[in-house]
Amino acid sequence: MVSEWRARNLRVAFVPTMGALHEGHLSLIRQARQNADHVVVSVFVNPTQFGPGEDYHQYPRTLASDVEMCRKEDVSLVFAPDQEEMYGTRDQKPEPYITFRISKLHTHLCGARREGHFEGVLQVVSKLFHIVRPDVAVFGQKDIQQWFIIRQMAEEFDLPVEILMGPTQRENDGLAMSSRNRYLTPEERKKAPLLFDTLQRLSQKVTADVRDAGSGKVPVPVDSAVIPAEIERLHENGFKVDYLSLVSTPDLQPATVIERGRLYVIAVAAWLGKTRLIDNILLNTRKNTDHDA
Ligand code: AMP
Repeated sequence: MVSEWRARNLRVAFVPTMGALHEGHLSLIRQARQNADHVVVSVFVNPTQFGPGEDYHQYPRTLASDVEMCRKEDVSLVFAPDQEEMYGTRDQKPEPYITFRISKLHTHLCGARREGHFEGVLQVVSKLFHIVRPDVAVFGQKDIQQWFIIRQMAEEFDLPVEILMGPTQRENDGLAMSSRNRYLTPEERKKAPLLFDTLQRLSQKVTADVRDAGSGKVPVPVDSAVIPAEIERLHENGFKVDYLSLVSTPDLQPATVIERGRLYVIAVAAWLGKTRLIDNILLNTRKNTDHDA
């Protein structure tokens, strides 16, 4: 089907997912539609990106309603392979002979916390790219480290696919939409928006410090007390924080100073009970520079 479209010079956009679709996924699908003639969505809970003890077996699987949602969004093709189709019959958890080794981009944030996770992501995404052969693929800002790592793979391996970023879709109270939000108990759900609140507070603080420092060329130091104070606040509210970090892009390394004109990310991962939530916010210091100039 895809080769027929390509033969007719039609553009193909691809949105890989693990299913249990929500508005966040649908927003990527809509963005994909604006960039191509046909949209392909994959639904595959990829075992190789889950570590031991993670929620691979509990992960929600709702294929029938996912397909229905895709139909309503005018998706041309839903690719929902089973494990055997993706990895053959070799093993419950396939151990390939050839794997990716990521340097630098996964030394912080989720990469430092979930051993082998991004290698598993690259394994499945590169396989999916070869199967679907899209012109463009859309991934969410919600998983920002994943986005930078996939974009880097496409660049370094000359994959003929453009990698787009879709903004994070949120519930009315600010909580980033996620297939995992359904794990939250009602009390945890009430607390969950504090994560986005934390990111916004930090972002405002850092941006204000940069603004107060004026428009000079000298990098502005990040107040080293602000992140520990926000971590403490999350702990007091029942979160167990994996990380709360300010990192520069595109290298995703912790930033202790802000250089104007550079894009930074404030990212958080924290547990509420048995649920691990992640979120992030972009910190664009370019605006200040333009304004000041
Ligand atoms: P997943 O099914 O969780 O693997 O996510 C599939 C794609 O949807 C990834 O590119 C995610 O970054 C993206 N995504 C997940 N949650 C959201 C959200 N709340 N807003 C926008 N994109 C999202």
